[in-house]
Amino acid sequence: MAKRQFKAESKRLLDLMVNSIYTHKEIFLREIISNASDACDKLCYRGLTDDQVGMSREDFRIELSVDPEARTITVSDNGIGMNKEDLENNLGVIASSGSFQFKQELGEGAADTDVIGQFGVGFYSAFMVSDRITVVTRKFGEDAAYRWQSSGADGYTINECEKEGHGTDIIMHIKPDAEEEQYSEFLDSYRLQGLVKKYSDYIRFPIRMEVSKSRRKEGSPDDKPEYETYREVETLNSMVPLWQRSRSEVSEDEYAKFYRDKFMDYAPPLKVITADLEGAVTYKALLFIPSAAPYDFYSKEFEKGLQLYSNGVLIMDKCADLLPEQFRFVRGVVDSPDLSLNISRELLQHDRQLKIIARSLEKKIRSELEKLLKNDREEYEKFFSIFGRQLKYGVVADYGANKESLQDLLLFHSSTQEKPTTLAEYVERMGEGQKLIYYAAGETLSAVDKLPQTELLKEKNYEMLYFVDEVDEFAIQMIGKYQDKEFRSVVDGDLELEGEDKEQEDDSAHRETLDFVKEALGDQVKEVKLSKKLKSHPVCLTAGPGLSFEMEKYFAAVQP
Ligand code: ADP
Ligand code: MG
Repeated sequence: MAKRQFKAESKRLLDLMVNSIYTHKEIFLREIISNASDACDKLCYRGLTDDQVGMSREDFRIELSVDPEARTITVSDNGIGMNKEDLENNLGVIASSGSFQFKQELGEGAADTDVIGQFGVGFYSAFMVSDRITVVTRKFGEDAAYRWQSSGADGYTINECEKEGHGTDIIMHIKPDAEEEQYSEFLDSYRLQGLVKKYSDYIRFPIRMEVSKSRRKEGSPDDKPEYETYREVETLNSMVPLWQRSRSEVSEDEYAKFYRDKFMDYAPPLKVITADLEGAVTYKALLFIPSAAPYDFYSKEFEKGLQLYSNGVLIMDKCADLLPEQFRFVRGVVDSPDLSLNISRELLQHDRQLKIIARSLEKKIRSELEKLLKNDREEYEKFFSIFGRQLKYGVVADYGANKESLQDLLLFHSSTQEKPTTLAEYVERMGEGQKLIYYAAGETLSAVDKLPQTELLKEKNYEMLYFVDEVDEFAIQMIGKYQDKEFRSVVDGDLELEGEDKEQEDDSAHRETLDFVKEALGDQVKEVKLSKKLKSHPVCLTAGPGLSFEMEKYFAAVQP
């Protein structure tokens, strides 16, 4: 049969693929496996109304095999298969993506079928690693089988051939290694297993492959065990995504194991959060708050983000847009069928859906933290000691855009409380005359506690928040007022203690002493005054309006 030409768009895309401006070559396997899964889905779906099919979900499978000598990877399925016309229409054209048509034909009620990739260009991605692709396929219910073959842009051929049973084999002839590009890695069965785990772990049909294994030889002595290798067919994927199961069906252990395997964190998570949304955008999410900060968490190296799936197929490993800065410590997965599977993360253009999901996740995480604070204070304190600083950064970020939603999640040390306190609890404890929320900042709790000024407030029985984190004071400045109460630093020259005599002190009797001190210190201080605020300390430093000492120190440290 004469060689047929691809349709124009296909050709352009194919050129793009073959010349692979796209660097993520490994996704070809994900695409081919997704197609196999779609084909099984289609036949399975047809089986619901067509008795001829006689198959149920358990009867479908996808098989993966590799032949390093022949340099081929084969993906076989027992799905719906293709006849000649299908081959022409599906593998010769991209614009009329089959899955898309199928979905439209089904119309309402199609939600149950997992047909991925409304605008997929998936099949062609195999040309990134193959110099030739052979498709052997037989459509369910038809006798003729066909072999489709193409080496890329120069077109394709279709011939009749023999094939037992319905379904499709995709045989990829892997390119030879070139200086700039290596392809042989894909002929390594471990590499392929890894790719299935990474991208296709939650495909709902078993993906099977014959793998080499090693076992102890029967009868070999204990002190001199001998081993032998053998081959065995193994299911590579775990099939059921944990996040698709309802919370009550999954044990804490299962969540912990999932978390450990997925995020390589051996400490079980501090908290598991499940979320879902159904509406304009549909998604399911399984999130974790780690029980320790990653070593690089507060550095530039740390990359925030959630894993993004579409119907169980990984699209993006760290989707940063899904997580607001203040919750960047959260790990997890989001699965949304509304995101079409796209070959390139650069091409992931679902801004609107992503934004809706991100907003919904933000609300969910916040309300879970509020619940934790309310119901399990100890656990919340533990959480806050690990990631609280990030919440304070969140208050400061974007000129306080999120302060309202975060301020009640903050904890601070207090001069009168053993455990950290919330602002609401502080206000609750305020005595009748007290109008301001006082705080004292310093390097350590004991240093703050020994400030001359704190002594006076303690005597007046005023509670103070003790700030030892650089960001504390910034966060408070951003909040500005809490329940209409202003914050006041104890080193503020204008401390305004209630009942304090505000009249100018008559310092004429001490003029000489004061002048002497000012002269001795010169420009290091603005002025030297008498103070009524001192108890056991002879002198204290007081800040003028504006920046506090701690903030001045902070700026001095960050500015060259
Ligand atoms: P999409 O999956 O988005 O439709 P692809 O380029 O991945 O786009 O595949 C194009 C079409 O080729 C599919 O829609 C399907 O009709 C057909 N196809 C590909 N692989 C198979 C397969 N294993 N079995 C049956 N049909 C297939
Ligand atoms: Mg596809």
